Amino acid sequence: MHEHLFSAATADRYRDHMARGVSAIANHLPTIAGPWTAPAVSEVVARVDEVDLDHPVGDLDAALDEVGRLYLDDAVWFHEPRYLAHLNCPVVIPALVAEVLVSSVNSSLDTWDQSAGGTQIERRLIDWTAGRLGFGAGADGVFTSGGTQSNLQALLVARGRACVSGGADPGEPLASTVSRMRIFASTDSHFSVQKSANILGLGTDAVVTVATDGRRRMNVGALDLALHEARLEGLLPMAVVATAGTTDFGSIDPLEAIAGVCADHAVWMHVDAAYGGGLIVSSRRHLLAGVDRADSVTIDFHKTFFQPVSSSAVLFSDGESLGHVTYHADYLNPRSSAHPNQVDKSLQTTRRFDALKLWVTLRTMGPETIGAYVDAVIDLARLGYDLMVRDPDLEVVTEPTLSTLVFRFRPDGVSEDVADEINPAIRRIVAGSGSAVIAGTKVGGRSWLKLTMLNPATTTDDLAAVLDLVGLIGREALEEIPATEQVR
Ligand SMILES: *Cc1c(COP(=O)(O)O)cnc(C)c1O
Repeated sequence: MHEHLFSAATADRYRDHMARGVSAIANHLPTIAGPWTAPAVSEVVARVDEVDLDHPVGDLDAALDEVGRLYLDDAVWFHEPRYLAHLNCPVVIPALVAEVLVSSVNSSLDTWDQSAGGTQIERRLIDWTAGRLGFGAGADGVFTSGGTQSNLQALLVARGRACVSGGADPGEPLASTVSRMRIFASTDSHFSVQKSANILGLGTDAVVTVATDGRRRMNVGALDLALHEARLEGLLPMAVVATAGTTDFGSIDPLEAIAGVCADHAVWMHVDAAYGGGLIVSSRRHLLAGVDRADSVTIDFHKTFFQPVSSSAVLFSDGESLGHVTYHADYLNPRSSAHPNQVDKSLQTTRRFDALKLWVTLRTMGPETIGAYVDAVIDLARLGYDLMVRDPDLEVVTEPTLSTLVFRFRPDGVSEDVADEINPAIRRIVAGSGSAVIAGTKVGGRSWLKLTMLNPATTTDDLAAVLDLVGLIGREALEEIPATEQVR
């Protein structure tokens, strides 16, 4: 009966069963023909709904077979070179090995007495990351479940700071104070900023959107003006969110200039580097110049460090400010505790030891190899841009800074309305073919397509093939539309 429990007594069974799990995936890999099989939703729903959860299939092999049919056969594979849709990365093997250790030992990083060395490993990685960002010795931070939580925590701490400077109690901020608070972020910032504003009781309207320039970077003059206006209106600027790698365009807001404006207005500067964080190990570290002047930084290791989900961190240049999230429980982390308890710095209580994945990655591969992967996908985006610029049927919004390209099929003379019909159709047909997956987005209310390159194994030929497919589908779609309507 206890044979299912992980223990010294089941070590042989553990070894054997883990190997079967690994084999299930490893044997599946050579059968994969593309990033996905484009299954119909109804089919997948029916297949999963059929399973009678009250009657087990009885052994691991049968359960794995079933999972193969329900999940692996039609999974979306981010390691496939023509998966070019969202910010999902192929994962590195050392991190997967660490994942086994993380789940098996099952440490919880809330307190020292549930993690010991785990806590210290996480703290070293936070210090290492802070060092790479250029923060001083007083910096601190914590691993989180993702960029969304990292941004929320940074803004929570910024709200606490704004309360203190407004003469209010950060633990019980007055509604009248909070309702005057404003967050400034560019029109291309991540929607988790709005979400955070809502969760923090500010309301979505508390996010003032600042215009971007032609390369989709925050317009610093507009930011300065918006901050002045807010003060004149009696509002309380709480934070400026600069994005280092916008989700759509990979653009990096001018961090140095924004730091200057934040200093002038004495307002918290948060840098959302969820996407651009990998630059700290790449040869393009200079693209983050000015990040060292931020009060807080979000970095997603599960994007540009090729880590399995979840792995993210939020860093603070002044570690003391983390006190805004500290609560004490007598049974867990009493005020009198002499131990380093990470729960004092986290929004979560029970928390996975995700840091070990990054640790084993760095100890096995080293930061330069990860940095070379980051450089490779940025180089690839540059090549993709050149292909697009040379193709008369394609338009591209802006040169890439990181590894995304927003483009559309629109040959000469084709109206924007017609392009708006054709491009979403191209995306659907590409996805339905199963040979590639690309994304879509809106720019100025118009439909565009998007490629996100996060796989160093994607080649220029892969990119060229996907663009050829886009052109082919686009021209076929155009033929269905009478010439007189194409220019409408
Ligand atoms: C991905 C992303 C986020 C959200 O991160 P999650 O890990 O998905 O929660 C936030 N900001 C930016 C700029 C991102 O690209």
